Amino acid sequence: MKLKEKNVLITGAAQGIGKSIAFAMAKQGANITIADTNLEKAGITAQEIQALGVKGLAIKLDVSNPDDVASAFGTFMNEFGRLDILVNNAGITRDALLLRMKSVDWDAVLNINLKGTFLCSKEAVRLMSKKHYGKIISISSVVAFTGNPGQASYSASKAGIVGLTKTIAKEYAGRGIRANAVAPGFIQTAMTDAISEKVRDQMKSSIPLGTFGTTEDVANAVVFLGSEESDYITGQVLHINGGMYM
Ligand code: NAP
Repeated sequence: MKLKEKNVLITGAAQGIGKSIAFAMAKQGANITIADTNLEKAGITAQEIQALGVKGLAIKLDVSNPDDVASAFGTFMNEFGRLDILVNNAGITRDALLLRMKSVDWDAVLNINLKGTFLCSKEAVRLMSKKHYGKIISISSVVAFTGNPGQASYSASKAGIVGLTKTIAKEYAGRGIRANAVAPGFIQTAMTDAISEKVRDQMKSSIPLGTFGTTEDVANAVVFLGSEESDYITGQVLHINGGMYM
């Protein structure tokens, strides 16, 4: 059990990659809080987590809203009393070529992906500093490093997460806090399932390992970064992309 009795809060974990992370961490003994805009789905995931013999809690949270974030971390602390690991996973896309990108969509992506990571990390650092221990793991993306047509806002938000992560790592290493990011490439989710087979084949041809990753591939990396096995790692980005960017 790599995460026995660790208290973990994961944003946007009602489904997708966050849900896989929640299960992988719960299987390693962690108590999991699913903080998501969709409380109903978060509640179902939390119940499934409880079936693994650990605590599972669902909290309604919009990561881009400072009051919501303060209240969600308050609820979490009332239940668990100590935060060991924060996973900043909540993220959205509003894709369009730059000249067609609406400023309202730019704001939505930056507010949820980057400002949300800032707000949650700030709460986490405040709590973890007092205990001189904690791990913050944020989900970036390969496009933070490569760029991607149609994804100016998304790639900028995910690149911002890298700068934020490195800065937190430097500012709070002395308080025992590690901050790292993972940068997934193409991961098989409902999003990639919706793409035509032709385009999927083109995408796969850009991946040396020849397949999309799975949500479990990302979750395994997050478990590692949350565990003591990675205690000497901070300010890093772990790339999970089958070799498409190296
Ligand atoms: P997903 O299936 O869309 O799940 C994202 C979850 O976040 C949803 O449950 C969503 O709830 C929730 N969410 C959205 N806005 C939120 C907010 N303001 N506050 C709290 N929760 C919110 O996405 P995914 O594919 O699992 O992606 C998870 C993370 O990995 C994201 O950060 C994404 O950018 C990153 N990533 C994904 C891929 C990929 O190939 N899928 C690749 C690289 C990086 P609602 O359903 O209510 O909107």
